Amino acid sequence: MARRNVLITGCSSGIGLALAIKMAKDEQERFKVYATMRNLAKKDALEEAAGHNLGKTLEIKQLDVCDEQSIKTCVNSIPDRRIDVLVSNAGMGLIGPIECQTIDEMKTVMDTNFFGLVRLLKEILPDMKKRKSGHIVIISSVMGIQGILFNDVYAASKFAVEGFCESLAIQALKFKLQLSLIEPGPVVTEFERKVFEDGMKMDLSAADEETADMFTNIYLKNYKQIFQSLGQSAEEVAEHTVKIILAENPPFRHQTNTLYTPMTTLKYADPNGDLPIDIFYKMSPLFIHQGPVLHQGCLLPSFTSFPDVSPAWD
Ligand code: NAD
Repeated sequence: MARRNVLITGCSSGIGLALAIKMAKDEQERFKVYATMRNLAKKDALEEAAGHNLGKTLEIKQLDVCDEQSIKTCVNSIPDRRIDVLVSNAGMGLIGPIECQTIDEMKTVMDTNFFGLVRLLKEILPDMKKRKSGHIVIISSVMGIQGILFNDVYAASKFAVEGFCESLAIQALKFKLQLSLIEPGPVVTEFERKVFEDGMKMDLSAADEETADMFTNIYLKNYKQIFQSLGQSAEEVAEHTVKIILAENPPFRHQTNTLYTPMTTLKYADPNGDLPIDIFYKMSPLFIHQGPVLHQGCLLPSFTSFPDVSPAWD
C-alpha cells in the first residue's frame, strides 16, 4: 500500500502533536505527516518528540487556519498538492457568561473552529474530488452534539462544524471521499489550561451576581477536577483517531470517551429536546441549590450519578 500523505493542523501541542508523532512513528511507515502549526517558533516540542523521524516521515510546515494565503502556500509546497488524509484539529475554547464576552472574542472562536475548517476544505477538497480519493478527519467534540453550561459559543462553533460536515458527507459519497468526526470528551491539554486561566481572569462585572457566582463557585471550582478524573490524554485521542484513519469503512462519527455516550444518546432519545436539558439541570447545583454536595453534571456530565428518568414519551 502506498504511503499516505497526512496534513494535520495545530501540531504545536495537544492532540495535533500526539497524532503527528504517532503517525510519523508508525512501524509500517504507512504515513508521510505534514505537521502544521500557526507559529513555527513553537515547533521545539514537536521536533524533539519526532527525533530521527524529522525530515523523513514528518515535516513541519507553517499553516494558520485563519489565513487563506498561508493554507494555499502550505498545500502548494506538498508534492503534487496531494493530501490523502486531512486532519482538521486546530481549535480554541471559550467559557463564561456571554454578557462578559465580546463579540470579537466570539468571532475569533467561530473563525478558528468553524471557518478554519471551511478554509482548509476550499483549498483541499477540489483536489480530493478530482482524484476521487481522500479522508477528511475533523477533531470535533461531544459539545458538537450537546451544549454544556457556560460553553455556549464553543458548543455553537462545534455544532457549526457538525452541521457543515453532515451536509458535505452526502456530496462526499458521490466522489468516494470519506469524512469522520472525532468527538472527544474532556482532554488534558493546553486547551484546558488556557481556557481555565482565561476563565479565572474574566471580568465578571457585566454579569448579575447569581450568574457570576454560578460561574466562579460552581463551574470554575469543579473544572480542574472534571478534567483530572474524567479527562483523556492527547495520546489516547490520537490512538482513536489513527484507528479511524486506518479503518476500511471509517464511521462518520466516533466518540473517544464512552462515559459521554449517554449524554449524546439522550439528545437522540427525545425529539422535543427537553430530556437532556432537564437532566443536565437536575444533575447540576443549579437545581440542588446550595446543597453540600456539588454535582459535576453542569460541567460535562459523566453519568456516574445518572438520575432516575423516564423517557418523555412514557
Ligand atoms: P491545544 O490547545 O493543545 O491544541 C490546539 C492547537 O490549535 C494549538 O496548537 C493551537 O496553537 C492551534 N491553533 C489555534 N488557532 C490556530 C490557528 N488559527 N491556526 C493554526 N493552529 C491554531 O488543545 P487540544 O485539546 O489539543 O485541541 C485540539 C482540538 O481538540 C481542538 O479542535 C479542540 O476544540 C478539540 N477538543 C479538545 C478537547 C479538550 O478538552 N482539550 C475536547 C474536545 C475537543
